[in-house]
Amino acid sequence: MTPSTDLNLPLFERAKRVIPGGVNSPVRAFRAVGGTPRFVKRAEGAYFWDANDQRYIDYIGSWGPMILGHGHPAVLEAVQKAALDGFSFGAPTEREIELAEEILGLMPSMDMVRLVSSGTEAGMSAIRLARGATGRSKLIKFEGCYHGHADALLVKAGSGLATFGTSTSAGVPPEVVQHTLVLEFNNIAQLEEAFAVHGRELACLMIEPIAGNMNFVRASVPFMKRCRELCTEYGALLILDEVMTGFRVALGSAQSVYAQSIPGFKPDITVLGKVIGGGMPLAAFGAPRAIMEHLAPLGGVYQAGTLSGNPVATACGLTTLREIRKPGFFEALSARTQSLVDGLRAAAAAEGVAFSADCQGGMFGFFLLPELPQNYAKVMTSDSPRFNRLFHGLLDRGVYIAPALYEAGFVSGAHTEADIAETVAAARAVFKELAAG
Ligand SMILES: *Cc1c(COP(=O)(O)O)cnc(C)c1O
Repeated sequence: MTPSTDLNLPLFERAKRVIPGGVNSPVRAFRAVGGTPRFVKRAEGAYFWDANDQRYIDYIGSWGPMILGHGHPAVLEAVQKAALDGFSFGAPTEREIELAEEILGLMPSMDMVRLVSSGTEAGMSAIRLARGATGRSKLIKFEGCYHGHADALLVKAGSGLATFGTSTSAGVPPEVVQHTLVLEFNNIAQLEEAFAVHGRELACLMIEPIAGNMNFVRASVPFMKRCRELCTEYGALLILDEVMTGFRVALGSAQSVYAQSIPGFKPDITVLGKVIGGGMPLAAFGAPRAIMEHLAPLGGVYQAGTLSGNPVATACGLTTLREIRKPGFFEALSARTQSLVDGLRAAAAAEGVAFSADCQGGMFGFFLLPELPQNYAKVMTSDSPRFNRLFHGLLDRGVYIAPALYEAGFVSGAHTEADIAETVAAARAVFKELAAG
């Protein structure tokens, strides 16, 4: 495609005149990898088509929600039917109960759930709830974990444990992040030290169990176990941010994966989004009854939303969850994702390219590094010019992965073995180019 015939280009130019950077969420702008973002015309199953009617195998799936692929017939039908009955009422509906029951049925760590419209909103509300329930202010988060863009979470580590974070965004006053302590992911010694110093002032510790916002980095089992033990010991609440991993890495989400290795493992509060909306704006946070009863109108922690529990979004999410809990769905999705990861590993090995990859359920990540990194600093030792060549090489061959090396990838129920084979063949061709220097 020459620039003069690429129809994405005039759209990008037009978008940049009226929308900052031409996009409504920064990573879409291709700043890290360069080039012109693909403007999506339509999508179906495992594919989308851009402004040039060029087809791509989609490994982003709206950054996780599209676990059934695009335009799943049952979901389409439910959404169309719901739309006919009305878009939004600002009054309760039966479908909100059904979705809450469906989520709680799959996630035994929670007795109650509150529906909201975005993961950011859910994470922000979960922290307010933790602070309200404990009467404490401080919180721990980890470098490389993303929990949405609430002010208190846009923080990087300060110098040493005595100093709290400094904000990573203009417009966030230092006072707003003064209660946020940022620690290194998977560093047990530092975690123990932080609890020894601040444990009794901590409202919560918030963590992505499998961090998908620094590509794909698992919290090690001993680290997660220590997070749980220390929270219990010091009376802080453990918040698992499963916005990405929820109903994506397993039917019981990441917490069920950790419970296999840590008997009785449960978070205090779970944050959900992405898959539970099936591509519509829907997210949630939930906890045992005693915690959730702190929320308005029962308790003193205020939280609300005009579009919360939206009837069209809940129809989409409910149908998506009912599809993924059908017998065999997760087994097939996991097998397909594993075959992608195995294929990519083999292709890289055949071309002599340093490569490591991991996956769980329908989520995967890979690195142009010989070993899987365990924390953000290690992730960032990846060679980004090489990643950018890999990204564009795949894109030119009709394979769409995240346009940044610190993002996870997603396989859907619509991806076939043929799609995986096509992807692996494309990757092998690009690895060959990388190996040639
Ligand atoms: C996507 C994401 C969020 C934010 O959700 P939005 O719906 O984009 O606001 C929060 N936490 C995690 C782990 C996420 O992946």
